[in-house]
Amino acid sequence: TVRVRIAPSPTGNLHIGTARTAVFNWLFARHHGGKFILRIEDTDLERSRPEYTENILTGLRWLGLNWDEGPFFQSQRLDLYKQAVEKLLDQGLAYRCYTTSEELEALREAQKARGEAPRYDNRHRNLTPEQEAAYKAEGRSFVIRFKIADEREIVWNDLVRGSMSWRGSDLGGDMVIARASEAGIGQPLYNFVVVVDDIDMQITHVIRGEDHIANTAKQILLYEALGAKIPEFAHSPLILNMEGRKLSKRDGVTSISDFKQMGFTAEGLVNYMTLLGWSPPDATQEIFTLEAAAKEFGFERVNKAGAKFDWAKLDWLNSQYIHNMPIDKLTDLVIPYWQEAGYKFDGGRERPWLEQLVALISQSLTRLVDAVAMSQLFFSEIVEFSDEASQQLKQEGSAAALEGIITASENQPQLTEAAAQEIIKQVVKAQNVKKGLVMRSLRAALTGDVHGPDLIQSWLLLNQINLDKLRLSKAIA
Ligand code: GLU
Repeated sequence: TVRVRIAPSPTGNLHIGTARTAVFNWLFARHHGGKFILRIEDTDLERSRPEYTENILTGLRWLGLNWDEGPFFQSQRLDLYKQAVEKLLDQGLAYRCYTTSEELEALREAQKARGEAPRYDNRHRNLTPEQEAAYKAEGRSFVIRFKIADEREIVWNDLVRGSMSWRGSDLGGDMVIARASEAGIGQPLYNFVVVVDDIDMQITHVIRGEDHIANTAKQILLYEALGAKIPEFAHSPLILNMEGRKLSKRDGVTSISDFKQMGFTAEGLVNYMTLLGWSPPDATQEIFTLEAAAKEFGFERVNKAGAKFDWAKLDWLNSQYIHNMPIDKLTDLVIPYWQEAGYKFDGGRERPWLEQLVALISQSLTRLVDAVAMSQLFFSEIVEFSDEASQQLKQEGSAAALEGIITASENQPQLTEAAAQEIIKQVVKAQNVKKGLVMRSLRAALTGDVHGPDLIQSWLLLNQINLDKLRLSKAIA
């Protein structure tokens, strides 16, 4: 059965690239009825932090990318890696290298001077026991290096990129798989632990970003050395900004929690990420759930070329999810943004009122956070008049119309839609003015602006929290 994994390092918040890799893994697992495994790669003790792990788990859950096994933590599996290192040492496939960092630096300088790419020259590959003893006596520490034969050809058939081929000589010399520590074989390194874990967790398909291609070449050699079956590999395209460069912090946001804060819905974002490098057989179909995408997902429809991150498209997808969401669910999602903005739910701003407000603005929202600016006039007592609104209020007949509305609504404590319409009709008739003037003046007085959401509904909402009369009298004062 298919077993795939996502293996984030908790050295930062859940990154959009990692999340998109998680989406592809999840879709592939679900398509094949397989397992999706979560492994936290926290071997870099200095840079790993528990709050990043928390952010990653929360982000994956929020996106709906539920995992079947894990989370496993590499920091709790060090014995396994140690055993594997020892196995390679015993078999003569790995060795202790005592080259100092000064010596490595000198080697790099010399290579640079000759115009060569930097690589370790394997100088400690065949030390005699006497030489080793001498280095130890000098007090040198060591790293464990895995032997890579220069002439080795490494080939695999990548599920996205097709046939791939590397030479051992391209891989920078014998690779470091573990650093030393006082206790002996110390901290094992990324390329090595990944392989040990993927073998142990019986991973059948390694799906990850194309920035790992060179690692794959190295890792294939490690699978062989450890006597394990080599999984399939699929390298998904990088996410690029609109200029075609790798998406980075400079492009605004890169972590999933940032996208959430900016007002994207989980459904809209995950839908968008699904389309970042993959397209469904019916390319006109752009809106779908993860489950629906899983039915169709396969690597034959994953692009080799980088996937451009298109904010306009993400916004459009997000707005589709917002516009089609039940109002009570949308209200649940909007409330935290209002709270974040400091809005208070007092003075009659109870759940039914909040839902009416959400219903009023829902079709104008692109991002959830837009609800903050759009509903400010319903949360603050006083509105500032825009220039156009002030102009409107100065128009001939405007003040009289508003006075007429105040008088007519005096014996209307609980305004209804019909009553509101009736009041406007009466004023138009009694003062012999155009309805447009009455409506525009009423909007200016109530909202401080000359455009905005449906006027009658806005009036009703303001009436329920006793702000309508206050604003009307202020407008004519
Ligand atoms: N910890 C690695 C990363 O975050 C995992 C890469 C892999 O999937 O092997 O990039």
